[in-house]
Parts: sequence; structure tokens; C-alpha cells
Amino acid sequence: MNGQGTFSFETSLLHNRQKIDPVTGAVSVPIQHASTFHQFHIDQFGKYDYSRSLNPTREALEEVIADLEEGTRGFAFSSGMAAISTAFLLLSQGDHVILSDDVYGGTFRIVTQVLTRYGIEHTFVDMTNISAVRQAVRPNTKVFYIETPSNPLLKVTDIKAISKIAKENDALTFVDNTFLTPALQKPLTLGADVVLHSATKFLSGHSDVVAGLAVVKDEILAEKLAFLQNSFGAVLGVQDAWLVLRGLKTLHVRLEQSIKSAKKIASFLEDHPLVEKVYYPGLKSHPQYVLQTEQAKGPGAVLSFELINEQVLRSFLSKVQIPVFAVSLGAVESILSYPAKMSHAAMSQIEREKRGISNNLLRLSVGLENPDDLINDFTVALNENCYDEREIYVQRGGRK
Ligand SMILES: *Cc1c(COP(=O)(O)O)cnc(C)c1O
Repeated sequence: MNGQGTFSFETSLLHNRQKIDPVTGAVSVPIQHASTFHQFHIDQFGKYDYSRSLNPTREALEEVIADLEEGTRGFAFSSGMAAISTAFLLLSQGDHVILSDDVYGGTFRIVTQVLTRYGIEHTFVDMTNISAVRQAVRPNTKVFYIETPSNPLLKVTDIKAISKIAKENDALTFVDNTFLTPALQKPLTLGADVVLHSATKFLSGHSDVVAGLAVVKDEILAEKLAFLQNSFGAVLGVQDAWLVLRGLKTLHVRLEQSIKSAKKIASFLEDHPLVEKVYYPGLKSHPQYVLQTEQAKGPGAVLSFELINEQVLRSFLSKVQIPVFAVSLGAVESILSYPAKMSHAAMSQIEREKRGISNNLLRLSVGLENPDDLINDFTVALNENCYDEREIYVQRGGRK
């Protein structure tokens, strides 16, 4: 069967190297539980010997994600953090990393509390500010770590521009592509070196598996990462690899529907008097709206919004019915989360405030519900608020 390249992205989600098992004709990838493989020759071992090093089911997922990201090699890990942490093992003592200032809380934690113990330095910068990025470069800068759109403020970083600065400085560019997936954004085609994923989110899409992926294009880098994956050993189990493969088949349709709904909900929130601000790269009011349309096929299905105060937020959360209130994103069901207490709890309040992650901020990952049901739900939850909307309108000098 043909691989990626011959078909459109949508078709290659289904019609790929893993479409049919060559031995049995099975149209679902077989789950190979074996941890070890019999060797038929003393002098010549087979392709598979031990499942930490290589396993056929995990390999199927690794091939699919490599093709979808237009890389040469994929790696599957036991979580997004395992993928990210293993990629950071490419660094050595004395190296320096430059990161987006509102990176995922777990990434913030490993960089500030673990890598520092191994003598790896870091600087957080607002990556939307290219001159600030240039100023942060040191002679020992080895990695530029981008999350775009970022979490939870949906800031958009110019992947091409940062990758160019990285190349000028003999450094690598890592991109956490969890929010957009290769359906919308392909960092390797924009000059990045390593693409990272929490496959727990949109790639699998059903809130039923924790998984991570990494993809590279360069063969030497692929060898290094393969060595680290096997050395560190945080590989993905076969049942979970199968679940990610299953979820990937519907990635495109899930995203398409969720984006349509996210745009509608973002506009609704933007017009609501109890909403202070909406962060969504699909809104024309987003400061990097144009960049987002240039480097990605769509704005994704995650948005954040700030309510006018914490009291309104608490009241809204107590009344809202449809979304689950939980950590995580990228699922068939809509998920509301509270970054200050969830994804960014690893950051101190001071660090959060520096980054604009206030206690009035909520993040919404839009699922597959009818968006009008979500809008009705939000309307009721905000209207039943202890606040009189007209009074707030007056207090805010007639804004909105
Ligand atoms: C969830 C998430 C991670 C971490 O992934 P896990 O699978 O939870 O380990 C990393 N980056 C982003 C953007 C995420 O949303």
C-alpha cells in the first residue's frame, strides 16, 4: 500500500502502510503483546528482539505519525511528558534552552525543577516577540522550545522565524504540536527539528489513553532519539498504541467539527458582558490571527476566556452542565479547565501572574456536542449569575 505523499491528509489517516496486516489481511493493526521474540539464528537476530527496543504495534503507530508529520521517524512514549523529557535528554550539562513563557505546566516543571539539577539552564521568553528571543540567545543555547498556540493563552509563535534563529545558532527547534496536530500544522515543514505530542489529547481524542509521540526528519537526530527512547525506556504499551491508532482515523473529522463549534462559541463569548477577554487564534481580534492562518490550516479547538472576576467564574462553574470540568483537552466531549488550579498548578501564583494566567481564566476544549447546546448552557450559567448584567454594563462605562 502507498504511504503518505500520494494521498491527501484525510485519506492517508486511513489509507496508509498500516491499512492491512500483510500476514492475515486484518484491517485493524494486530496488538502484539510479546515482550520478547524468539531468535532463529545465533549469528543473525531478527528485526524484533525485545519490546522496549521495538514492538510491531508500537512501530505501526510510530510509522503513521512519522508520515503524518512528514518526518522520517516517529517514537511513541508512555505519556506526552515522557516524550518531552526524553527529547530533553538530547541536551547535556551546561546547555541552555529558550522556551515559550506559557508552556504546559509539566514542561515548566521538568525544565525548572529537574533539568536544573543536571546543569541545564533555561530562559522563558514571550516567543511572539522575535527580538526578545534573539536577546535571550546565549553561546550555550542548544534548544528553542515552542508551544504554538500556547497553553493557556493561545499565543501564536512564528515557527519559521524561530527555526531560522535556531539554525543561525546551531541549535535545535522543538515544537509541542499537541494543540493543532499535523491535521492543521506541520512544524517539520516549517524548519523545526523535533515535533512533540501529548497523544492523550486530539490524536487519540477520546479521553481514554495517556500517550506521547515525537517525530524527527533528520536521520542522525532519529538515531539519537531512538537510542534515548531505548535507554530511558518510557515506551508506550501496545494496547495504548492501538487506541491512539484507532483515534487517529477520525482525527480530521473530529477537528473539523470542533473548530466550527469553537469559532461559534468564541464569537458568542467575545460578545458576552461577563466575559472580559477571549483568547482564540480563530478570532480576527487575536493579535497573531494572520500568522496563524499562514502557518496552520486552522486555529484548533481550544480557547480560553477571562471572566470579569473570580466570583463570576465560580458561579459559572457551579451552574454549567455540558462540559466536563477536568484537566486535559482534545476529546470528543468538551472539557472546561481552570489553568490556575490544573494545568498550571505547578507554577507559583507569581509566575502565573507574570504570564497573564489569572484566577479568572478558564480554558475550553470544544468537543463534538452541538455548539448551540453549549452556547445555551453557557448563556444560562452566566445569566443566573449573582451579577446584574445591566449594572456591570454601567460599571464598565458602557463597554459591550
Ligand atoms: C497534556 C499536554 C502535555 C503533557 O502530556 P501528557 O500526555 O499529559 O504527559 C504536554 N503539552 C501539552 C500542550 C499538553 O496539553
